[in-house]
Amino acid sequence: MSALAESLSGIRAKMAAACGRAGRRHDSVNLIAVSKTFPVDAIREAMDAGLTVFGESKLQEAEPKIEMLPSSLHWHFIGRVQRNKVRKLLESFEAIHGVDSLRLAEHMNQVSSETGATRRIFLQVNIGEEDSKGGFAPGELGQAMEDLLKLNRLEILGLMAIPPADPNPEAARPWFARLRDLRDSLEKAHGVELPELSMGMSADYEIAIEEGATWVRVGSSLFGKRAYRVDGELG
Ligand SMILES: *Cc1c(COP(=O)(O)O)cnc(C)c1O
Repeated sequence: MSALAESLSGIRAKMAAACGRAGRRHDSVNLIAVSKTFPVDAIREAMDAGLTVFGESKLQEAEPKIEMLPSSLHWHFIGRVQRNKVRKLLESFEAIHGVDSLRLAEHMNQVSSETGATRRIFLQVNIGEEDSKGGFAPGELGQAMEDLLKLNRLEILGLMAIPPADPNPEAARPWFARLRDLRDSLEKAHGVELPELSMGMSADYEIAIEEGATWVRVGSSLFGKRAYRVDGELG
């Protein structure tokens, strides 16, 4: 078994155990293999180990990788969305996690209506209300939702967040719970379903699953340590 396959089986076991502790079905959580900074060969190895969903945070880096790899793979964009790159992002990615303003969502809807596609998005919430992070303020989303739900080319899957950085993974738990509660209250207030929660990274995905994550975004635990930080990261 390759080192990556071994890491993957460890991660899968931890995901299943976290589902068990939370009384959730094991298939209720999806793993996004965050391949940013890692080369195509590493992604091929991950494919061979059975992974099909990959996350990238920079269009420039992702485009050539996507081009070189089988079209059967699923790509999620997890970086900061630049307005002038929306058209290309919508072409290359099946889901966009960093939709952080009504204005951006309206622009994406406009571009999608020109190309005739419906796009899947996650609304990014600045759950810790940090100056350093983008996203909807938790208190502003209720109001924005009215307008967001009118954008008929966008399928809003749910919410995404990165909690404030803390060396203790347990510190993330109340933020994850807060995102879930926010989702629940938006569903009630607007009579819509927002089934997905994109939360949890290498350090804290088990906790995120216990608190309701349906998509975890795992990079370094799977591929190894990243050699450099990518511009445009949301965290
Ligand atoms: C890089 C990144 C991840 C993965 O981080 P790891 O700690 O390596 O698992 C997840 N989500 C976002 C938004 C990222 O930018």
